[in-house]
Amino acid sequence: MKGLAKHISLLFSVFALAACGGTSVSTDSTSGSTDATSSQAAPKNKVSSESLYVKKVDNLPNDFIFGMDASSVPSLEKSGVKFYDFDGSEKDVFEILSHNGVNYIRVRVWNDPFDAEGHGYGGGNCDINVAKEIGLRATKAGMKLLVDFHYSDFWADPAKYQAPKAWANMSAEEKGEACYEYTKQSLQLLKDAKIDVGMVQVGNETNNGIAGETTWLNRWRIMDGGSRATREVFPDALVAVHFANPEKPQNYENWASKLAYYELDYDVFGTSYYPYWHGTLDNLSSILTKIAGEYGKKTMVLETSYANTNEDTDFYGNTIGESASGEYPFTLSGQANHMRNLTDTIVNRTNNSGIGVCYWEGTWISVGTNSWEENVEKWKEYGSGWTSEYSASYESEDAGYNGGSAVDNQCFFDKNGKVLESLKVFGMMAEGNVTELRADGVENPVATMYTYDSAFQLPSTVNLIYNDNSRKAVPVTWDAFDLEQARAAGNNTYYIKGVSDGFDVELTLHVLEYNFIQNYSFEDGIDPWHVTKRNADKIGDSYKNEITNENPKSGDFAYHFWASASNTAGFDMEQDVTIETAGTYKYSFCLMGGIASGTPDPEKQDIYGYVKVNDEIVKKVDAKFTGYSKTYENGTFLIEGLELDPSQKITVGIHLFANESGSWGDVDDFMLNIVL
Ligand code: CA
Repeated sequence: MKGLAKHISLLFSVFALAACGGTSVSTDSTSGSTDATSSQAAPKNKVSSESLYVKKVDNLPNDFIFGMDASSVPSLEKSGVKFYDFDGSEKDVFEILSHNGVNYIRVRVWNDPFDAEGHGYGGGNCDINVAKEIGLRATKAGMKLLVDFHYSDFWADPAKYQAPKAWANMSAEEKGEACYEYTKQSLQLLKDAKIDVGMVQVGNETNNGIAGETTWLNRWRIMDGGSRATREVFPDALVAVHFANPEKPQNYENWASKLAYYELDYDVFGTSYYPYWHGTLDNLSSILTKIAGEYGKKTMVLETSYANTNEDTDFYGNTIGESASGEYPFTLSGQANHMRNLTDTIVNRTNNSGIGVCYWEGTWISVGTNSWEENVEKWKEYGSGWTSEYSASYESEDAGYNGGSAVDNQCFFDKNGKVLESLKVFGMMAEGNVTELRADGVENPVATMYTYDSAFQLPSTVNLIYNDNSRKAVPVTWDAFDLEQARAAGNNTYYIKGVSDGFDVELTLHVLEYNFIQNYSFEDGIDPWHVTKRNADKIGDSYKNEITNENPKSGDFAYHFWASASNTAGFDMEQDVTIETAGTYKYSFCLMGGIASGTPDPEKQDIYGYVKVNDEIVKKVDAKFTGYSKTYENGTFLIEGLELDPSQKITVGIHLFANESGSWGDVDDFMLNIVL
C-alpha cells in the first residue's frame, strides 16, 4: 500500500526460464595440470567458452579470492554422488573447481555435530575432521582453505547461535577460553596436515549472537578467543568476521563500531549477499565502502548464490522455489552474470577494500533423482541433507527432521554431477569472454492501474534479456483480460500471462482506487497536513503528537499521539484536497489506541473524521479507540456518499480529543476515493 503513488509505475522483475538449461557447449582446454603446486590465485589453465558471455571485470587482481563453499562434498560422495568434467569423465570435484578459476574452498566447522550415539546431525556432519579431509583435497588442487567456525554444534545464523554442548554450562569468560583452546587445537590439526589455510572466520552470520552469547562484551570474548588462536597457529592467515543482511546498513555500522570499541583483532569485515533478500549492489557497495573507510578493514562477500533453474531435483524444496524469480533469468547466463556483476562491485566499488567473493554452496547437488524415499535414507545415514532427525536432541525448533539440499538449483553441477558451463565465469572474468548474443529471458513487468484512469492499457512491450545481461523492449501478446471488469471490481492484484519473442511472460497488475489525499500515510513528513496540537505548549515528556515508525498501518510511519498517565491527548489534523471530476466519493481513515491501563471509556472520547465543503462540515463519522492491533483491526472509519465537485473547496480531517488520562494511539492511511 505504501506504493500508492500518483503516477502509474512500471516496475520489473525477471521471469525465470525453463529453457537453455541443459545443452552447454564446452571448448574447455584440458591443458591444466593436475598436480597442483601453486597457491597463486590466477587460474592455472586458460578457461574459454563458446556459449557463456562474460563481461570483463576491470582491475581484477591476480590474488582476488574466488571461493566456493564445498562443505557437503564428503557426505555427498558417501551418498553415492560422483562429479564429472565437461568431457563427461569422472573427476575430483576440487580439481574441476580449481581448473575453472576457483582458488579458495570454504568449509563450515561445528564443534560436535553428533548425538550421544554418534549419529550425525546432517549438513555434511562438518566437524574439524571433515574440514581436514576437504582441506587436504583443496590444498592438493592448489587452493587455499577458508575455515568457517560456527562455534556451535550445528547451524549458526542470525536466528540461532546455540553454544556447543560442551560449553553449555560455562560462563562467557570460560567460553572465550574454551573457544581459544578449541580453535587452536582445530587449526593445529590442519597445520600438521600441511593444509594451506588462508582465512579463518570467527563466527558465522553473527548478527544477533555467537555461542549462546548476545551482549557485545561476551560476543567479543568468543571472537577474541578465535582470533588469538588463529594469530598463533596461522600468523599469515586473515581473520574474518561475518554478518548478514547488508540491506540494513545501519546495523553494519553499529556492529563494526562495537567490534572497534572492544578492539577485536580482525582483518576482514565479511558479509552474506543473497540478491533475493539482501538489497541492491549499490547498497552493498555503499556500506562496505563506508566500513572499509572508517575502520581500515578489508571487505568480502563470504556467501552468495544464484539459481540457474527453478527445478528441484532431490524432492526437498529449495530456498529459491519453483515460482520464484529474480533480477537475472534463472539460467546459466543469469547465474554467471550475477557472479560477474557482484565481483565487479567488490573489485571496483568498495574503495579498494574488497578482496573476494565466496559462493554458497555450489556443489550441494541432489543425492539422487529417483525418489524422496531413497534420498531420505542417504540424508539420514550420511548427513548429506541440511538436517537429519538426529539433530532433534540439539536443535528441535528448526531442524530435527530429515531434509535434503535446499540449493540444488543454485549449484555449478547438474543433478547428475556434471559440471555446468556457468562455473567458467570464475576463470573468465579477468579477460572477459565475448560470444554471440542470444535471448536468455524476459522481464516480468509490474503495472499499476488506478480505477479512475479510463485510458490505461496493458504494456505493449516487455524487456528481453540477452546473455550479456543487456535488455531490449520487444512486443508482447497478453492473454485476454477484461480491464473494465477489473476497474469495476476495485482494489485487487491480477497475474496476466503472455508471450514475447517465444518466452512466457507474466504481468503483475495492481488495480488501485486512486487516493486524492496527499501523503496519506505520513511517509513524507507532515506536509501538507495542518495539525493543531492540544497542549502544544507542553509537548515533551508529558505529551507526544508526532510521526513515528512504531505502529504503521502501511508503509513505515503513522501519526502517533500519547499523553502521560495523568494527562489527556488531543489534536486536530486536516488537509485541503484537489479533485478532477465531479462524482460520488468516500473518505476513510484508520485509528487504534487506548489508555495507560484498563478499558477506555467511550464517553470520554470525542473523536470524529469529517469532510468540509467550502469550510463547512458536510459529513462526519464518529470513531473510538479500538485497542492495540498492528493491522488496526476494527479500526477503519468510513464516510460514504460524498457528492463532490472540483469547483468546491474540499477539506478532509480528523478531530481527536481523549479526555482520559494516559491516552495513546495512532492514525494512518487517510483515503479519499471516487466511487465509480
Ligand atoms: Ca532441493
